[in-house]
Amino acid sequence: MIPRRPALVGLTTLPFAAASAPRAASAAAPKAGVAAPGFHRIRLGEVEITALLDGGMRMPEANAPRFFRDYDEAVVRRLRERAFWVEGFLHQPVGAYVINTGRHLALIDCGGADWFFPGTGRLHQALAASGYRPEQVDAVLLTHIHPEHALGLVDGEGRRAFPNAEVVVSAQDHAFWTDPAMESRVPQGPRFIQAARRAVGPYADRIRTFDAGRETEVLPGITAVPAIGHTPGHVSYRIASGNEAMLIWGDVTHQTVIQLANPRWRLAIDVDPDAAVASRLATLAMLAAERMLVGGVHLPWPAFGRIVPDGEGYLFVPRPWQL
Ligand SMILES: [Zn+2]
Repeated sequence: MIPRRPALVGLTTLPFAAASAPRAASAAAPKAGVAAPGFHRIRLGEVEITALLDGGMRMPEANAPRFFRDYDEAVVRRLRERAFWVEGFLHQPVGAYVINTGRHLALIDCGGADWFFPGTGRLHQALAASGYRPEQVDAVLLTHIHPEHALGLVDGEGRRAFPNAEVVVSAQDHAFWTDPAMESRVPQGPRFIQAARRAVGPYADRIRTFDAGRETEVLPGITAVPAIGHTPGHVSYRIASGNEAMLIWGDVTHQTVIQLANPRWRLAIDVDPDAAVASRLATLAMLAAERMLVGGVHLPWPAFGRIVPDGEGYLFVPRPWQL
C-alpha cells in the first residue's frame, strides 16, 4: 500500500501543531512607541550630504485659511485626496542637512526646540546617530532666522550647542530678526524676534554675514542663492562638486503638496508675500529646467528629490534609494 494517508495527515496537522506551540518571542515584543533618530546620507560628487530629521509640526487644518492668504477649500480638498494625507491636520516635517566637503563640516539650518514648537528639537539626537559630534561642526549656515531653523543653535540653558562653529546668515535677516523694534511689526509677533535673539545671541562674536541680494560663495562649493520674501534675507544654498549640484531650500515651501500645486498662493506669515511668490516661482522653474536635485527643510522626509512640472504647478518626486 502507498502510505498516502499518514503523509496527508502530517501535512494538514502541521500548521495547527505550530499554532499551538509557544508563541515566538517576536510576536509578543512591546511596541517601541517612539521613532528612531532620523538621518539619511547621500553622495554628491566628492561631498557627503546627510539629511537629519529634527521632528515635525502639526497645523490644525482649520488654521489653513489663515496660513494661506489665497486659500481655496475646494482645491485643498482635492489635493488632500490625491496626497492621502490624514484628515484634520497638515503635517510639516522639520529637517536640516550636514554638508561634509572633506575640508569643512557645515550644517544647513539646525532644527528647533520643543518648548517653542512641540514635536521639534531632536536634531542633536539625529546628528549623534549619523556619526557626528557638535564640536566637529565648523559652520551653521542659516536659510533664515525662524525658530524651527535656528533654535538648535543653543542648548536648554541658552549656551552654544556648536562650540566651534561660526554662524553664517544674510545681513538682512540678521539685522531684521535681532532688532527688538521689530517685535511689534513681524507677522508672528514678538515671540519670533525673541527666539531669534536667543538662537544667534550666544554667537555674537562668531557671526559672518553676506548680502542676500546676490549669490555668495559662503564656503568652498557652497553658495547662498537669493530667495527673498518669506523673510527679508531668506536664501537657499547650492552645493556643487565635480559636475553635480543640488539646491537646499529653507522655506520656499512649508506645505509641499499645497504650495507646489499652487505656487502663487501668498502666505500670511511671509514678511513680503509677493516677493516670496516670485522667489518660489523662480526657484521651482530653475529646478525643473535643470532637473536639479533638491532638498528642503520642510520637504517630505528624507527630503531629497526633484521638481517636475504638473499642470499649473509642480510635483515633488522623491529620489529613489539606490546603492
Ligand atoms: Zn520653516
